[in-house]
Amino acid sequence: MALINVLPEGLYCEPGGFFIDPWRGVDTALITHAHSDHARSGSSHYIATEKSKDVLRHRLGNTINFQGVEYGEKLKLGNTWVSFHAAGHVLGSAQIRIEHRDQVWVISGDYKRCEDPTCAPFEVVPCDTFITEATFGLPIYRWDTGEATTRRIYQWWRDELERPSLLFCYAFGKAQRVLSELCQFTDQLVYVHGAIHVLTEIYRQLGVKMVDTLPISDRPRNHQFKGDLILAPPAAYRSAWMKRFPHPQTAFASGWMSVRGARRRRGYERGFGLSDHADWRGLIQTVRQTQAQTIYVTHGQTEVLARYLNETYGLNALPLKTLFEGEGDL
Ligand SMILES: [Zn+2]
Ligand SMILES: [Zn+2]
Repeated sequence: MALINVLPEGLYCEPGGFFIDPWRGVDTALITHAHSDHARSGSSHYIATEKSKDVLRHRLGNTINFQGVEYGEKLKLGNTWVSFHAAGHVLGSAQIRIEHRDQVWVISGDYKRCEDPTCAPFEVVPCDTFITEATFGLPIYRWDTGEATTRRIYQWWRDELERPSLLFCYAFGKAQRVLSELCQFTDQLVYVHGAIHVLTEIYRQLGVKMVDTLPISDRPRNHQFKGDLILAPPAAYRSAWMKRFPHPQTAFASGWMSVRGARRRRGYERGFGLSDHADWRGLIQTVRQTQAQTIYVTHGQTEVLARYLNETYGLNALPLKTLFEGEGDL
């Protein structure tokens, strides 16, 4: 019997009586992390890491019924033992380990293997069956370190003293990672869009070190932002909000930017390949390290990765259809 099945509501563990990252409201929802395709509203009871509590509440409302757990802490749910383990994706993100009789399954959620000063590093959790994401599951995806990429962002910003530099990136996770990595290069203040400001303050309260930030709205309407760096979510690109900045230079920080042509198609002047997901080598390394013999692949390039794992390592690897979206927003 499979320990996890895909139901219309999401990934379901019958002997445990819970769903993982359900895409509809359910009774008990275990949440790997607070990105919107994994954390949806409408469930009666949420279980997630204590570190994701504030972001989850910010996104789903203060009234959600929330139970926080620490990494590694074991919970008895139905006839299963469940624990959350660091996924290295964003603050508080977790893989979920489920033990039932002689079977161990791990659901990765989203994860990465590169260093990230804003969250705990990925923990390898041995298991029989591993459900992995494959957002960037093609050999063309290969990341530089966050430090190297942020150094390029810093240089791009410092080379333009006359215009504002607008860097677009995810409001939750990516923005704070850039702000934290920037500490290595500068102590200059960075401006942020309101959506990023709220999340950055949550990170700061939880002890993540970042450069100082100010929301745009703290400056008078006629402020020019000459030579300043401003972080904004992709939805603000070419919006009315952007009119506030005279002749800005623009860039986008995302895993998709590591591939030629992606930047030009979207109209940004520069692209910085910075992802919070594992690259091709990171995915394969992780699958191998778990020692799992059965692999289910979700998000993105499911077929390609599953076939590669089958053919190269003789693993029983299969694509699994879900509603998770990967590093979307494009
Ligand atoms: Zn995510
Ligand atoms: Zn995802």
